[in-house]
Amino acid sequence: MKTLGLMALAIALLGAGWWGWQRWQATPVLPVSELPAEITYLCLETGELSRGPRQATPAMNPKLGRATLVQALYCSRCQGWHRMPPDEVRKTMPGGPVCPTTRVPLVETAPAGAPLEVAR
Ligand SMILES: [Zn+2]
Repeated sequence: MKTLGLMALAIALLGAGWWGWQRWQATPVLPVSELPAEITYLCLETGELSRGPRQATPAMNPKLGRATLVQALYCSRCQGWHRMPPDEVRKTMPGGPVCPTTRVPLVETAPAGAPLEVAR
């Protein structure tokens, strides 16, 4: 019976380890508590920027009725918004998304008074 108990314990530990690994892999760039509830979106069809509650992307653009919104990130060097790099590009950016032109880190929240404009 003792062996059975140890096996159950081992399986439980393995399960917890697997769960932790999954959680760790899914961890976003920023700690969840610091993520703003509202983020900026870029419409891939119209190129328009908009603000909205955080949700999975591509998100529905209510004006078009289609899921065309991807997250936009602010670039302090370009003083404008860039499209969030695609997943495969972001994998090459372990420190978080950076500007494709100037390599400065991109942020979700622009400083107060920053224009809602796409960076050129
Ligand atoms: Zn930039």
